[in-house]
Amino acid sequence: MHSIRSTTRVAPGILFVEGPLSNWTVFHGGGAVELVDCGYPVDRPLVEESIRLAGADPADLKRILITHGHSDHLGASAQFAGERGVVVAAAPAELPNVRRDVTEQVTVADLLPSALKRGTVRWAIAAVRAGGLGDVGVRDAVALEGDAVALSTGHTLRLVPSPGHTSGSVCFFEPESRALLTGDAIVTGHPLLRESGELQQLPAFFQHDADEAALSARRLVLCDAAVVLPGHGPVIAFPADARP
Ligand SMILES: [Zn+2]
Repeated sequence: MHSIRSTTRVAPGILFVEGPLSNWTVFHGGGAVELVDCGYPVDRPLVEESIRLAGADPADLKRILITHGHSDHLGASAQFAGERGVVVAAAPAELPNVRRDVTEQVTVADLLPSALKRGTVRWAIAAVRAGGLGDVGVRDAVALEGDAVALSTGHTLRLVPSPGHTSGSVCFFEPESRALLTGDAIVTGHPLLRESGELQQLPAFFQHDADEAALSARRLVLCDAAVVLPGHGPVIAFPADARP
């Protein structure tokens, strides 16, 4: 069914949303709303529903920050930008992918070697139905400059470059809650992964550069995260008394 799988109130003004096939996070406060990622294009009504669930108004959406320019994270960003003047922003190194000057995304040909594996075909059909092959590029996306971004909601997000999944993939770290929004640099589940609820990487054919992605994933260990909000799979919290 096309519905939100779960929502988690991570901290005041931060709602993590586990969507049908990919996740996003709602930041709200001071009459403003900002998102990190936006699901698939078909998830647009769910994105608006999640903003209401957070206790905010979808009309107050000001900006969408993109971890990386894949269709299951860009979602309906281009529509929000075109119809409502919502700003879409990404790290400078990811802008070409977000604008679709280049396309770094798994293709049908990449999937062929694993096409016979259980679940692959079903996942591919679901991804296509969700708008995965549509033109989701955001021509007028803007660059996130510097190593931190102040949200209009009062939150601050630090940029953690995590290249490999795509050339300009970033994670975002919110220092107050110590939440790490990983995009696809680290996930906790995916229809094509056997396990759910553990930190892991997507299958290699999803990575633009699998070696670099592995390095980035390892480096994220150095992030002092108390909670991981992944691009796919459920939220994982690391209570203070469980950390080394
Ligand atoms: Zn991705």
